[in-house]
Amino acid sequence: EKVFSGFSKTRSNLAVIDELLLYWNLADTDRVLDELEEALLVSDFGPKITIKIVENLREDILSGKLKSGNEIKEALKKNVLELLTSKGSKTELQLGFRKPAVIMIVGVNGGGKTTSLGKLAYRLKNEGAKILMAAGDTFRAAASDQLEIWAERTGCEIVMAESEKAKASSVLSQAVKKGKELGFDIVLCDTSGRLHTNYSLMEELISCKKSVAKVIPGAPNEILLVLDGTTGLNMLPQAREFNDVVGVTGLILTKLDGSARGGCVVSVVDELGIPVKFVGVGEGVEDLQPFDAEAFVNAIFM
Ligand code: GDP
Repeated sequence: EKVFSGFSKTRSNLAVIDELLLYWNLADTDRVLDELEEALLVSDFGPKITIKIVENLREDILSGKLKSGNEIKEALKKNVLELLTSKGSKTELQLGFRKPAVIMIVGVNGGGKTTSLGKLAYRLKNEGAKILMAAGDTFRAAASDQLEIWAERTGCEIVMAESEKAKASSVLSQAVKKGKELGFDIVLCDTSGRLHTNYSLMEELISCKKSVAKVIPGAPNEILLVLDGTTGLNMLPQAREFNDVVGVTGLILTKLDGSARGGCVVSVVDELGIPVKFVGVGEGVEDLQPFDAEAFVNAIFM
């Protein structure tokens, strides 16, 4: 498995501090921490987290707790890891005991929702689950076609709208009913993500959520918000809105193979208190990885 192949840019931004730490001595502290601050900001950690980390380190250096460049580096990694894990939320999918489990995938168009759904289907199917896809993006005709291609590619069944006027919520409830009747393990629900009519999108997502809960109490088990990693900190307001309206249970950060700046992973987790469950590292069927905070930290601070 490719392990966080996507962070080459972040890694090289942060590598700047390695050399400084190698020759670190107490008199150098301010200069090293300034450089570190710059490197963290460039990598999209955001000002709040950057200041928190830098000031933590400064305190521990000045109090004599950190005595070498190596110790500073380890403390830096520990700080970041703590930010990622302190909310105590689970990064594994929580699918409950009722069958089928329902996973709703939400997010704005272009972020990688449909692709992530396809990749997730592939992964879960390989783990032995019987997967049904639901083409809930009824707004964009091409979206259902695109999902159908993923259904073929992964060998999963799919429920699509019967007419152009079908509502997303009825496609989803139909899919969940079918999933229940035919013994599927998991129903993966795609949804719309049109940007410019946000209000009605949020209404629609609420009614999608209600319609599946009517078929299976407690469903959806997971509402995964797909965020485009290349948008960096700009994803935060959008993520907040989705979370406020539908209650997001996990994040999928996509396009981390490209020029994404890895620090945004830390800031989005810290800001929202929602765990990253998967990361997208490419367009292929195998390019979705479960998120492992420790592997991530080791990948960006080599
Ligand atoms: P949606 O509108 O949110 O459903 O987005 P799509 O799933 O259609 O994805 C939009 C574009 O981003 C497509 O060209 C995808 O192939 C691409 N994409 C999605 N996830 C990733 C990823 O993790 N890495 C890369 N490089 N491209 C991705």
